Amino acid sequence: MPELPEVETMRRIVERELTGRTLESVDLRLPKLLRDSPIADLSPLVGRRVVGARRRAKVLAIDWSGDLTLLAHFKLAGQLAVIHADGSRHVAGHPVPAPDGDYPHKATHVIYRFADGTTLYHSDIRQFGWLRLMPTADAEQALAAFGFADEGVGPNLIAADTLRQRLARRRIPIKQALLDQAVVAGLGNIYVDEALHEARLHPARPANSLTDDEFERLYAAIPWALERGIAQGGAKIIHGRAYPADGFPAVHGREGEACFRCGATIVKTRVGGRGTYLCPVCQPEPAAS
Ligand SMILES: [Zn+2]
Repeated sequence: MPELPEVETMRRIVERELTGRTLESVDLRLPKLLRDSPIADLSPLVGRRVVGARRRAKVLAIDWSGDLTLLAHFKLAGQLAVIHADGSRHVAGHPVPAPDGDYPHKATHVIYRFADGTTLYHSDIRQFGWLRLMPTADAEQALAAFGFADEGVGPNLIAADTLRQRLARRRIPIKQALLDQAVVAGLGNIYVDEALHEARLHPARPANSLTDDEFERLYAAIPWALERGIAQGGAKIIHGRAYPADGFPAVHGREGEACFRCGATIVKTRVGGRGTYLCPVCQPEPAAS
């Protein structure tokens, strides 16, 4: 958290709610967010206008007039909240601060005030996230330097053959392989669990053990799970517990509850060191070899 669907939701909020607005002031309360930034403070943004927002994997890139681009990574607990002058608000990312609560929160580290009275609050209770401000001309290269693989959803969707070959080279559990951002970018813990349940694959299956049919199910399930998350503005999971809408999420955060597909009880286990949810009937354990 936030995973790709949450970051995509942030991108859409920034693009829809902030494009065309001019920054009047910025209050940076946690300078270490800019620890690796080519431009070491945010004041060059004052007087600039938001031009649009892009995303690559889980990095958000906000383009500003004056050829400036601000990259943001939200890591474990980042959140953006846009509050307009009329009080209407749009919040995405980590559920703390409470989206309907008071801003700024004590974990709000950057406050952007726009000329029309709109305010953008960037909060991060864990402080692992970062911001990097640079000339727009340098942004593509900065994004490329992360070495992200093709993505699990959207215009950079990974080709089936590419994913098949990458999995065929790995004997680690399929879940662990899918979490590796060099295999496919943007899949995090929640959406891997959901994709594997949709594909009816046990998360501990060796990545190189999938049959053609199983691979095809998985290849369809990855964008399906991410699209479901994006459609919901990020799956609703609070303190590790899911609040499903229309049967999604189906397994993550639902330990002890009934599988929507077969009625069996969802269990929680660990795979590759990560808390993992699955349906023991839909996703049978690999036979011991
Ligand atoms: Zn089931």
